[in-house]
Amino acid sequence: MRDADNAALHGVAVKTIRRWRRLYQRRGLPRGQGHLAPPCPRCDGAVLDGEAYAELLGWYLGDGYISRGRRDVYNLHVYNDARYVDLNAGLLRLMATVKPGGRPHSRRVPGAVVTTVSWKHWLCLFPQHGPGRKHERPIVLADWQEQVVRACPGPFLRGLFHSDGARVNNWATRVVAGEKRRYDYPRWQFSNRSEDIMVLCCWALDLVSVPWRRSGPWTVSVSRRDAVARLDALVGPKS
Ligand SMILES: [Zn+2]
Repeated sequence: MRDADNAALHGVAVKTIRRWRRLYQRRGLPRGQGHLAPPCPRCDGAVLDGEAYAELLGWYLGDGYISRGRRDVYNLHVYNDARYVDLNAGLLRLMATVKPGGRPHSRRVPGAVVTTVSWKHWLCLFPQHGPGRKHERPIVLADWQEQVVRACPGPFLRGLFHSDGARVNNWATRVVAGEKRRYDYPRWQFSNRSEDIMVLCCWALDLVSVPWRRSGPWTVSVSRRDAVARLDALVGPKS
């Protein structure tokens, strides 16, 4: 509510409202909306939007991390290339869907956009959080997370392939009927240093019957024409 309305409600001057707020902040007290904090799907049985969560989990495993803020609040950050304006706008919507009433924000860092939202319950939703880099610790989904991904493998792949994936365009020329023609061979690649995350990516591709192969120690490739088309339809464009 506006300070003027608040002052009218309590029968005090606007200046008084502002002074109360300063005192409150100086004592380090939480803002007066604590009772409005959204309930947690794990602690309080709140409804979790499976599609949004599966996608956010993919983003988190790809290029996200959680930091600890003040008063047991955790910040979930997802990095993404600043080029992909639509995907970055989508990340804001995604976070606000997983945490209803949350107010995610984004900031520019060199070459990237970091989208962040804070919550006391991020560790409930992302128990994979831990010290060190993700490839230096085991990354295993909890049973309930596995169930969500089984129900929504497409959104999970969308998060993975847009964070740590690339759509590569290879091409070659062939002579057909005496004429040199160019052929394009688009391909999706997913790269991650964590073997556990690689295995999760392959598992999710199996769930949607998209054939893949390991094309390097840290790379999974989807290169068959029909498979690329299917993945395109599932994860959407990089834009
Ligand atoms: Zn919780």
